[in-house]
Amino acid sequence: MSYPSNIKHLITLFAKLPGIGPKTSERIVLYLLERHLKEFVDAFSRITGTVRRCLKCHNFSTNEICDICSDSKRNTDTIAVVAKPQDVAAIEQSHAFSGTYHILGGLLSPIEGITDKYLRIKELEVRIEENGIKEIILAFDNNPEGDATANYLKKRLSRFGVRMSRLARGLPMGSDLEYADEITLKSALENRQRL
Ligand SMILES: [Zn+2]
Repeated sequence: MSYPSNIKHLITLFAKLPGIGPKTSERIVLYLLERHLKEFVDAFSRITGTVRRCLKCHNFSTNEICDICSDSKRNTDTIAVVAKPQDVAAIEQSHAFSGTYHILGGLLSPIEGITDKYLRIKELEVRIEENGIKEIILAFDNNPEGDATANYLKKRLSRFGVRMSRLARGLPMGSDLEYADEITLKSALENRQRL
């Protein structure tokens, strides 16, 4: 690459993003430099220091407690446990869930070395203990990692005696929850299966 070192550095940074290889990264960086650099720099500097994790659900928020957790119309005794913020966005779009969320930060994956200590399970246990939670809905991708995480949580959380369910198998096998359409998600939530 015959670019100045700071441009090479940017290309290396973009190549770290999921699904972006070195060639795509090079194209993005050059495109930004030619056209939208200032817009992006301004947007990044506005977001820096203003976005944090909600203290309850760990979703991104501009306040200590996010809009969903602080909404008095939400049903606070039901928690949908999800892997990542995109899953919250997908479920919200289905308008079929009025409870709150808990973002684990991933799914168990022995192959990738993601064990329970990398997920926000202790934080979930504290919420169950302190907030009188009645139902936990496990809303995971329909794949081996989703299955492994659901089985693990079923065992680990059984001591609390809360009702636990998992999204119905309406989601196609191997599918990502975040890409499920609204109707599929609504039906998966309504027909959730007791664990
Ligand atoms: Zn929250």
